[in-house]
Amino acid sequence: MFTNDQLPEGVTRETMDVDVLIIGGGCAGLSTAYHLKTQIDQHNELVNSGKITGEVIPDPMIVVLEKAIEVGAHSFSGAVLNPVSLKEMIPDFVEQGCPVESVVNEDSVYYLSESGQFKLPITPPPFHNKGNYIISLSKFNRWLGQKCEEKGINIFPGFAAVEALYDGNKIIGVRTGDKGRDKEGKPKSNFEPGMILKSKVTVFAEGTRGSLFKQVQQKLNLRHGKKDEVFEEGVKEIIQLPKGRVQPGQVIHTMGFPLSKSVGGTFIYTLPDDKIVLGLVTYLDTNDPLLDPHRELQKLKTHPFIFKMIEGGKVISYGGKTLPAGGWYSMPKLYGNGFVVIGDSASMVNVQKLKGIHLAIKSGLCAANSIFQAMKNDNYNEVQLKKYEEAVFASYIKEELYKVRNFHQALGKGLLQSLPLLAAQELTGGRGFTDNMAIHKDSSTTESVVDVWGADGFSSPENHLPKIDGTLFFDKLGSVYLTGTLHDEDSPNHLLLKSADTCRTECHSKYKSPCTHFCPASVYEMVPSKVHIGAKELQINYTNCIHCKTCDIKCPFENIDWTTPEGGGGPRYLDT
Ligand code: SF4
Repeated sequence: MFTNDQLPEGVTRETMDVDVLIIGGGCAGLSTAYHLKTQIDQHNELVNSGKITGEVIPDPMIVVLEKAIEVGAHSFSGAVLNPVSLKEMIPDFVEQGCPVESVVNEDSVYYLSESGQFKLPITPPPFHNKGNYIISLSKFNRWLGQKCEEKGINIFPGFAAVEALYDGNKIIGVRTGDKGRDKEGKPKSNFEPGMILKSKVTVFAEGTRGSLFKQVQQKLNLRHGKKDEVFEEGVKEIIQLPKGRVQPGQVIHTMGFPLSKSVGGTFIYTLPDDKIVLGLVTYLDTNDPLLDPHRELQKLKTHPFIFKMIEGGKVISYGGKTLPAGGWYSMPKLYGNGFVVIGDSASMVNVQKLKGIHLAIKSGLCAANSIFQAMKNDNYNEVQLKKYEEAVFASYIKEELYKVRNFHQALGKGLLQSLPLLAAQELTGGRGFTDNMAIHKDSSTTESVVDVWGADGFSSPENHLPKIDGTLFFDKLGSVYLTGTLHDEDSPNHLLLKSADTCRTECHSKYKSPCTHFCPASVYEMVPSKVHIGAKELQINYTNCIHCKTCDIKCPFENIDWTTPEGGGGPRYLDT
């Protein structure tokens, strides 16, 4: 029996020494690499021209590991970009070809009832987007990846980091996953062993719920004294509309319909060439076991206000992911011996504004500055890398996150109940009536179907998918097709159950298997058991997985461990 890390006899792993190892080729990781190399180049130029004294820094080996088949293929976001940190990194980003869909030129907020809408007379300040850009994060990251490669940074797409390597409490690198194993984990004829990458400093930039950093923060106790991480789940589609239907540059947010049992909202961004982004975000600390963001997105399109906008259009793209929502109080310790953690992996999202890209980039700049100093001192220990956390705390990352440090906790109580709390927070710089409000871990909040929906929960019309037509309305499998998701059918299942029995005996009877609802890609199914006649058991269609991480977060028994599949597998987002 092979386990997924045993090597066949005679096969060894290649070891590569690198200076800076960045886990994740998203905007946070790529910004770290780009800014670090910029600083080294500038420093060396000044030294060589005699303008400053000091040593030239030898050309470092900077490696970015990206699990997707190419940079950008797993990048998924709204996305409205506040360009503040991008301007710090690349002041002339537009001239340098940064792909921008549109400048935001109009903001509005609506409340949707079952069949009507009410436009707020004034757009609340958190929804102001003047000076921001509508972008496709996948296109943006592809561009940033190219900028990095032009600087000589090594990007290894299709390589998933599966294990952090330690020397005591020091991170000394990672192991990448093997390729070419079959379903049972046995090497196939195309087997390629993963590599050992040894690094002086490792930057964890895995994005939301990083699977490697999850292990690291547990092993090194980086969450001591911190609040639990909490998340939201977002799904979105890009819809091609008939010619002349919309002007690019509008940002519309809605509240109300279709969400009734969970907190959340929706967003619409208008793009050039008559396309729109239509998305829906929900809190995962809901008690609703039947929460299904994909279904809610389909329902949203039946609302007259939305339907009028999209009628005659065609959905051309779909995707989903979670985003960290705990913010300031949920941030782990950001550094240690030989490593730092940045961006979404460190809960750096302004959850009031639903924006994290600018904070991810800024954290990358702070990390790059600290690593640059560490390089000059040839010292990557905890004391040296603490300067990264100090830089984050002295920057607008703290300023923004601290102001909204109790926002998620307050809004989680429901729209109406939260209004006085949110008003008090506005007046007190985020403090509100109670500072450091309680956060409820997403996995702990689910209640039974009967408690939430009553005896007829399943038959409630609210839990029905609208009629699908394969053009504007889709079931999950139809939507997954639009993500371009691909995993080798004969490769190991990356979604590991701690106990399959729990799904059959406890979860199904009590909660009716929430994973079969909240998963936006139809990965989980309860099917008749071949062993326990008359019972149902969980079937995991892992090749559908779009890497949103919801199951790792929301399973009420914390029974699902999302691990990285074979490098290169997953969605292939091109324009999300
Ligand atoms: Fe998301 Fe988990 Fe479903 Fe994959 S299996 S799409 S990570 S909920």
